[in-house]
Amino acid sequence: MKPVKGLLFGTAGVPVSTPKKGSIEGIVRVRELGLDAMELEFVYGVRMSDSLAQRVKKVAEEAKVVLTAHAPYYVNLNSPEKEKVEASIKRILDTARVAHKVGGWSIVFHAAYYGEDEPQVVYSRVKESLERIMATLKDEGVEVWVRPETAGGLAEFGSLEEVVGLSEEIEGVLPCVDFAHLHARSVGGYNTYEEIASIFELLEKRLGRECLRNMHMHFSGIEYGEKGEIKHLNLEESDFNYRDLVKALKDFKVEGVIISESPNIEGDALLLKKLYSKARRSKK
Ligand SMILES: [Zn+2]
Repeated sequence: MKPVKGLLFGTAGVPVSTPKKGSIEGIVRVRELGLDAMELEFVYGVRMSDSLAQRVKKVAEEAKVVLTAHAPYYVNLNSPEKEKVEASIKRILDTARVAHKVGGWSIVFHAAYYGEDEPQVVYSRVKESLERIMATLKDEGVEVWVRPETAGGLAEFGSLEEVVGLSEEIEGVLPCVDFAHLHARSVGGYNTYEEIASIFELLEKRLGRECLRNMHMHFSGIEYGEKGEIKHLNLEESDFNYRDLVKALKDFKVEGVIISESPNIEGDALLLKKLYSKARRSKK
């Protein structure tokens, strides 16, 4: 996939201020707001007709809005039931196929639940399915980054180490880093400048500069407890240190797409974009 230019701020789905809620209207609104990306939320199922996909592609190109897509929540590549694994694989494939049709850049999915299994066992199952997914997409000529996301709940597969491992082992796979999820998963960690910088250091060391030039990220405020994520919050209602996230994004010259998943969606996307455009690089 071709890298996008610079760091693009976007919304998880159609902005809340969009008068009529549809993908096309959402893209137009993203452009009006001065944002640069939108994530298509297929979280309850992948549905988009070919004719709509064609129009979405055209409107996004004209508006210069980069599209990403989020796969359905009902994915568990570690389900003990084989049909559920197959259905999960299909949901990820369908997300990638639609993303490709609309000229999208990257897709993200929540890979699995640990259930009763050891993390290493779950890792190898996820890896096996993901290898199949990538082989199928290659055969079909579907070009889009495929990204397991860092998960917010401790019952969910998706530590930073796990998604980095999959990215090292499988071509076409890179992590989707969700900063709120890492913060919740570590029950309050990944919140100082040093902790946030350590994420980028790790990615650069293990996956190279290429990874930092092609990042797909999520952020929001978050409420969490001892099991991790409880719910997303707006940045200013949360303890998330977004100011230092902005600094680290600058310092590490991170490029790609960063999507706001706050309840106010575009509110926090604009807040972060504004801070970012005023921030100065402090090192490197
Ligand atoms: Zn997600």
